[in-house]
Amino acid sequence: MNSANVPSLGSILDTIPTAVIEFDHGSLVYANQAARRLFSLDRWDPDNPVAALGNAALVHALETTTTTGTLQEVTVEVHDSVVQCATSQVPGKAVVTLVATDITSVERVQAMRRDFVANASHELKTPVTGILALAESLELAMERDPVRAKQMVHRIRKEAVRLSQLVRELLDLNRIEEGERREGEGFDLRFICLDQVARIGTLAESLHVTVRADIPDPIIVVGSRENMKTIVSNLLTNAVKYNKPGGEVVITACRQPTRIEIVVRDTGLGIAEEHLDRIFERFYRVDQARSREAGGTGLGLSIVRHAVEQMGGTITVESALGQGTRFSVHIPVEGNDV
Ligand code: ADP
Repeated sequence: MNSANVPSLGSILDTIPTAVIEFDHGSLVYANQAARRLFSLDRWDPDNPVAALGNAALVHALETTTTTGTLQEVTVEVHDSVVQCATSQVPGKAVVTLVATDITSVERVQAMRRDFVANASHELKTPVTGILALAESLELAMERDPVRAKQMVHRIRKEAVRLSQLVRELLDLNRIEEGERREGEGFDLRFICLDQVARIGTLAESLHVTVRADIPDPIIVVGSRENMKTIVSNLLTNAVKYNKPGGEVVITACRQPTRIEIVVRDTGLGIAEEHLDRIFERFYRVDQARSREAGGTGLGLSIVRHAVEQMGGTITVESALGQGTRFSVHIPVEGNDV
């Protein structure tokens, strides 16, 4: 390659996301573009370049490297970003380089994971503790009080159902997050809706709620059948669970020019305005006791939202307290053959 065509080191360093700064005898002599952005170096004081870094721990690391020549590694906060820094000395010279990587998003994901594990463990602990305590009492009651023993067996069963529901939903969430998709698979959305309506029949009957689907024609969709089943099943289950005796649930679906619309509406309890923003969060429940009683885990709607977003769609909710709720899902279908 002709040396005239070789890009300069500076122009190469300007293309990388890692910040690189060079100090010579304490003076800042070079900063690539990422460094200028990360440390807002356009406004630095030429007489005091190190102060421009805006962090005492980082300045200390630089000074240590300058005086001892040793590599220093620190993670610091700079202008609301979490930054991993390493300072090192060029052997035999008074030149110190600082290499810094913005790890804010990595940190955020890790914090979310930690939160999730803590919440999930707490949710799992509750039914397990319940089962253990009930099993102990059951041993005592079996001989002395068979009627009470029977009630306990019933409660153990209820806790175990909750536990298995939670495990199922955690696995659903994992499957969706892993992005398991079967691209190119064509399926009939109408069939899925009718099937899910039939599946929820027993629960709906026991709560005196009627459920019907109003979908006149087949709707062929290409995408993840599993995701679609999860969406329909969770929305229908909620519409039945959070309903009133004599209430109604209707699911409609239709193909619009560039998207599929699925609407699940119910004449149930409704959701107060202040909760509407939060119901799609993991483990969020409007009424803790009621959700638990209904066998809820607080995961259903977060799973639905994940599944919808993975299909490139959106979900919205409208609700009136005491009157009912309407969830609308829109999935783009560009390129799908009807
Ligand atoms: P859960 O397992 O508790 O049902 P979800 O994530 O499915 O968790 O729902 C979160 C909360 O939103 C529920 O606890 C419930 O309070 C509320 N909710 C969801 N769907 C409805 C609905 N159709 N009508 C009234 N409230 C609902």
